Amino acid sequence: MMGASPLPVDTTKASALYRERTLDSGGQRILMTRLQGSGQEVDLRSPVNCGGMGRVRHFRRSTSNGWPPNPLPIDPAARALSLGEALPRIEAEVFQNAACNWRCWYCYVPFNLLSADLRYSAWASLDELVAQYAQLGNRPPVLDLSGGQPDLTPEYVLWTMRALRSRGLSNSTFLWSDDNLSVDYFWSKLSAEEQKEVTSYRNHARVGCFKGFDCESFAFNTMAEEARFDVQFELMARSIESGLDMYAYVTFTSPTSANLSRKMESFVDRLEAIHPNLPLRTVPLEVQVFTPTSGRIRPEHLSALKVQQTAVMEWNKQLSLRFSTSQRSASVCDVPLASRSLS
Ligand code: SF4
Repeated sequence: MMGASPLPVDTTKASALYRERTLDSGGQRILMTRLQGSGQEVDLRSPVNCGGMGRVRHFRRSTSNGWPPNPLPIDPAARALSLGEALPRIEAEVFQNAACNWRCWYCYVPFNLLSADLRYSAWASLDELVAQYAQLGNRPPVLDLSGGQPDLTPEYVLWTMRALRSRGLSNSTFLWSDDNLSVDYFWSKLSAEEQKEVTSYRNHARVGCFKGFDCESFAFNTMAEEARFDVQFELMARSIESGLDMYAYVTFTSPTSANLSRKMESFVDRLEAIHPNLPLRTVPLEVQVFTPTSGRIRPEHLSALKVQQTAVMEWNKQLSLRFSTSQRSASVCDVPLASRSLS
């Protein structure tokens, strides 16, 4: 059990600090998490690889009773690489950058791996990491750029794309990247040409994670300022407008179940305001307790784990009211969101 609540996160300051500490522009290197020997390693099913900086993750479609199946990134990857339809699982190689600007109580990454701490991280060029990925026996078809918050350094995705291209892997690898929808660095730190290079890369999609269904659940989950919940929607809209192939996750843990029906209706309204089909590209994730989480859990978190079970029922209700059965059963990658111009 933890003691007193940590102080709220100042997202602007934390983002700038962690960007500075995790980016080596001149050397084209990113500070990456060393998984070997970390508190996260105990939860991994396969041994770490790529010099202790990578791991294999099995993404599975099946979920707990009452939760919608999770087709991410299985369907977009399988479609892009012609691996078949409705696969039950897919393997991904995962790299993690070594910082995040938020502190979600349910994060399965230990907080010491989110703090740009040199005891648990190392500088790496994506070219070196992709070279090691290329040499893996049974190389997973998906490369997942995770964290941490990858978009603190949008160069992470850009340099990985370049490395995959230069090693002839861009057609046989699906690049999947995470974004907690907290910073505008994709636009403010990359040039227009670099942004175009990312948006026009064929085998790439990105998932933005909504950290709650209202500002109260968002702040409870992330320790960040309530106003940042609105920013999540702005950044999702901007990502879609820019031509990124976007999907979304959402977590439903909340300190209260009051007015859940109305709050969920409003949340889905806000997704639809970005694009009428966005709810069909949004996958609720059930929060589960992992080894790093268990040390942080307080009684209000145990209660929040229960609230999410009611919240997902409200989500399912909203989706069934708004979309037909055939729309809801279509593959997530057949849900039109935006046209992309691919080079
Ligand atoms: S935003 Fe993601 S990486 Fe950061 S603390 Fe939350 S769950 Fe962990």
